[in-house]
Amino acid sequence: MEFWRKHMPKGMYLRSACDWHLDPQNNDTIEKFLETQGKTSHDVEPLALDFFLSYVDWFQQQKNIHPLPVHIRQLDHSPHGFVATTGDDGTIHARRVALAPGFKHFTNIPDDLKNRLPAGRFVHTCEFTDFSNSAGRRYLIIGGRQSAFEWAALLVEAGAAAAHVAHRHESPRFEDADWSWVNALVDNMVENPNWFRNLSQQEKDRVAHRMWAEGRLKLETWLGPRVQNDRVHVWPRAEVLSCREQSDGALQVELSNGETVVVDEIILATGYKVNIAQLPVLASGNILATLKTRNGFPELDDHFETSVPGLFITSMPASQDFGPFFGFTVAVRTSARLICDRMRFSPES
Ligand SMILES: Cc1cc2nc3c(=O)[nH]c(=O)nc-3n(C[C@H](O)[C@H](O)[C@H](O)COP(=O)(O)OP(=O)(O)OC[C@H]3O[C@@H](n4cnc5c(N)ncnc54)[C@H](O)[C@@H]3O)c2cc1C
Repeated sequence: MEFWRKHMPKGMYLRSACDWHLDPQNNDTIEKFLETQGKTSHDVEPLALDFFLSYVDWFQQQKNIHPLPVHIRQLDHSPHGFVATTGDDGTIHARRVALAPGFKHFTNIPDDLKNRLPAGRFVHTCEFTDFSNSAGRRYLIIGGRQSAFEWAALLVEAGAAAAHVAHRHESPRFEDADWSWVNALVDNMVENPNWFRNLSQQEKDRVAHRMWAEGRLKLETWLGPRVQNDRVHVWPRAEVLSCREQSDGALQVELSNGETVVVDEIILATGYKVNIAQLPVLASGNILATLKTRNGFPELDDHFETSVPGLFITSMPASQDFGPFFGFTVAVRTSARLICDRMRFSPES
């Protein structure tokens, strides 16, 4: 959960609701956690980040999970199994490894945009989550989906003088996303893990588009009033043409809609894109040489096992073979069950 704690801003709200809980056995659900506090989902939705983290802490206690506080620097594979090298040069030997690396190493910063910005003068949203020094400052947020608008809201609430939000497309509409159809699809994959991969390309595209449209063509309605503020300026159909550093350190940015904005910082709300070779733990070991990939994603079998026997990968890197839902918490229950089933029944266990 490090990503949720360190790379999402205080004051953020989740888009998912109480039904996207973490327990594969459906016992320690968010609703059950609420019961312990005499509350219901109506009292807490939309879910605040802090609330979600308190559920996670409770879940961890309920399940007696004690994570080792170590950073894995490198992962190597040999016929005898895996060796993980920790940040302090310790080693952990294992016959099987499950990687759930999340989003952090897959930040997407398009080259054509990067080339138009002065080096060192922009930051991705996941690296800009502390707004305590934002009062009086001016920001340009590049991107036009939920993150871009939510960062704009949080910045002006923190006292920013201006938050410009520029994107190439039309601005999404304010309408609550409907993810209710996702649960059944993902839960059924415990019994039918090949469901997504066996769809025709046209059907896959349809499912992926539906998921994309819920998330990307809509902005949650609770965000609307927070960005209707005279310090938030939304520039649809506008991309960065050039960016110049002024002598006073401010950035003068020329947009393709004819506007020029002067800001102190540029934030890229440009999302995430999987390239498994970017994962430091793999990039530094010997595994990439034998790991089969397609379009930057690992090739996974029906239990998330890669072409390296005993190595499992889930979360966002699994979304090519299992469907776009696997970048979200709704999928953790299914992936946990499928990975554990394979580990339990495989002859080496
Ligand atoms: C802005 C934003 C909003 C989102 N909103 C939602 C939402 O509302 N609902 C939802 O379901 N999903 C949401 N998501 C997606 C959500 O972040 C993911 O579903 C979730 O984080 C995936 O969980 P994870 O445990 O797989 O990965 P992460 O939460 O990214 O966790 C990865 C973990 O791996 C650890 N790790 C990585 N490398 C190493 C290493 N080398 N050594 C040791 N540990 C390592 C990290 O420390 C971390 O603890 C959102 C994502 C973003 C970016």
